[in-house]
Amino acid sequence: MEHIVIIGNGISGVTVARNIRKLSTKKITLISSESEYFFSRTALMYVFMGHLKFEHTQPYENDFWKKNNINLIFNHVVAVEADEKKVVFKDHSSLDYDKLVIASGSKSNKFGWKGQHLKGVLGLYHKLDLDNLEALAPLCKHAVIVGGGLIGIELAEMFHSRNIPVTFLVREKSFWDNVLPLGESQMINRHILEHHIDLRLETGLLKILSDENGNARAIVTDKNETIECQIVGLTAGVSPNIDFLKNSRIELGRGVKVNRFLETNIKDIYAIGDCAEQIQPNKNRNNIEAVWYTGKMMGETLAQTICGKPMEYNPGNWFNSAKFFDIEYQTYGWVFSNPTENEAQFYWEHQSGKIAIRISYDKNNRVFLGINTFGIRMKQAFFDTVLNNKETVDYVIKNLKKANFDPEFYKRYENEIFQSFQSNETIVNN
Ligand SMILES: Cc1cc2nc3c(=O)[nH]c(=O)nc-3n(C[C@H](O)[C@H](O)[C@H](O)COP(=O)(O)OP(=O)(O)OC[C@H]3O[C@@H](n4cnc5c(N)ncnc54)[C@H](O)[C@@H]3O)c2cc1C
Repeated sequence: MEHIVIIGNGISGVTVARNIRKLSTKKITLISSESEYFFSRTALMYVFMGHLKFEHTQPYENDFWKKNNINLIFNHVVAVEADEKKVVFKDHSSLDYDKLVIASGSKSNKFGWKGQHLKGVLGLYHKLDLDNLEALAPLCKHAVIVGGGLIGIELAEMFHSRNIPVTFLVREKSFWDNVLPLGESQMINRHILEHHIDLRLETGLLKILSDENGNARAIVTDKNETIECQIVGLTAGVSPNIDFLKNSRIELGRGVKVNRFLETNIKDIYAIGDCAEQIQPNKNRNNIEAVWYTGKMMGETLAQTICGKPMEYNPGNWFNSAKFFDIEYQTYGWVFSNPTENEAQFYWEHQSGKIAIRISYDKNNRVFLGINTFGIRMKQAFFDTVLNNKETVDYVIKNLKKANFDPEFYKRYENEIFQSFQSNETIVNN
């Protein structure tokens, strides 16, 4: 019987395993060295904040895997020997495969800072990071976070929830301004400060200082300021977790290079999820996308191919969502922080300074290109249809009520937005 071996039991690995099982009786083995059972990485912050227990982040009962005839191995893969079709574990044992799926995810970036290996210096990615945080938090009087993206702000909220004062170093001029346009980015700066986070913009990390026991005791910024702290959170992005593949003959770039069918350069070896790098990304998509739903989609797609129905990965329109303390953020399509010359943008911000939308559209034909929403939840299905049908910005503004996620819970701002748009623009009838 064909043996499918999957390295990684995150959302990508688990999705491909479950879908292969739905479609076939093939032998499936799912390997991870992080946790015996699949858990939701995106929920780690809620465990630390006391909203959930770790067990609640595991969507399947522990006997689910046995019932579904999916073998689990809790071990670390140190090499893939493609010529012999086997993976080699840390304890020198090995496992043969007929087809191999690499779904090894990401790791937190560390840029060679002096002191980055000290105790008390951690990323926020793996379960072990959460365990380390739990152990260190009770004695922590001050924490420093380095890197102002989505994970950095989650970590800030986590410390805040335990009343641990935080200094947040952000290298950019304004929070996440390589993705967010200035209005939204400044709105989030204000929101961070309102939570008494010591936000330091245009400030980077120079080095981390040690005490006599090898614990972090302070950091020095690139402005030569020393800040005492017991925990340093490194949240300057993530990159594919692929070091164990270096001598494998599998073609690597930043990630594991794959074609549209998620195949690597070696027959019967595939890669999906955060660790996969598309050689030919779909239009307007990045070649590496470290988000939950793309890993899931890749898992679903690859299961079809492995079960004999070759299918190309087609992620459709880009969307993403996140949370900046109390402000929910969603994005559908593309709204660039620096619009191209053919692009116009409409920005509306509520007087509270916590609710906003920005719509991007083509100046020439007024076709809607994307929307950012802050503090208002809108329906993905609406914008997916709008993008697929190439509707205009005028259509979107006139039909915004249809995008309202749940009018019972979300106050309606459509009239205000409509009026603001009218006073800035002439709505074109279509
Ligand atoms: C704190 C946090 C919050 C996030 N929030 C969001 C969010 O709100 N929305 C969103 O879309 N995305 C979010 N993400 C990103 C999202 O979690 C990832 O995109 C997704 O989990 C990636 O899934 P994956 O299966 O590709 O990899 P992973 O979840 O990283 O799973 C890979 C697994 O493989 C294991 N592994 C790796 N190498 C080996 C080896 N050599 N041997 C054995 N096992 C190995 C790893 O330990 C890991 O368990 C968040 C990420 C983090 C860290």
